[in-house]
Amino acid sequence: MKVQDLEFKKFITAPALAEKVHALATQINHDYKGKTPMFLPILNGSFMFAADLLKEIKVPCRVSFVKTSSYSGTSSTGQLKTLIGHDESLFNQHIIIVEDIVDTGLTLEKIIEELRALGAKSVEAVTLLRKKPAREKKVDVKYVGFDLEMEFVLGYGLDYDGLGRNYKDLYKLAENASANP
Ligand code: 5GP
Repeated sequence: MKVQDLEFKKFITAPALAEKVHALATQINHDYKGKTPMFLPILNGSFMFAADLLKEIKVPCRVSFVKTSSYSGTSSTGQLKTLIGHDESLFNQHIIIVEDIVDTGLTLEKIIEELRALGAKSVEAVTLLRKKPAREKKVDVKYVGFDLEMEFVLGYGLDYDGLGRNYKDLYKLAENASANP
């Protein structure tokens, strides 16, 4: 399948994704029995995963979609992200961050740090996909769907150049192509 200039091939099918989402929800339902967690899906990439996951969450819960944005201050790196879209109600909550993919882990580390500073009672993360650098760096992700090597993936919420978020399956870059996203 071609998206812009790149060729992608099917990687993880919709039924396999659904099975994994069910397994992750089962774990979370077990671990949060008696609690009322607040799910924080990080837009845009996690919208499809979050929707499917939340349909299987049986404990009472709250949901607040958030975004990360680059600091507009003096930092010139463009790397530092801050959370936008949340409200004061994060204080004293059991937070579960919902990510589509953790690559270097920098985004997630920053979000966790920010939530702790905002006074969250506990902070955990669930990600559908985790790449090798985050694994090696031992970024603290309690619930992980699939571990990947260094593939660039799209579909099921993830994009390439803004395209491909709507596909129900997950695709990866064909071997003879290269991406610089
Ligand atoms: P990190 O801070 O962990 O390096 O970055 C995570 C973010 O990078 C993800 O939320 C996602 O937006 C983007 N990203 C990393 N790897 C991929 C990938 O393989 N495909 C897509 N579409 N986005 C990716």
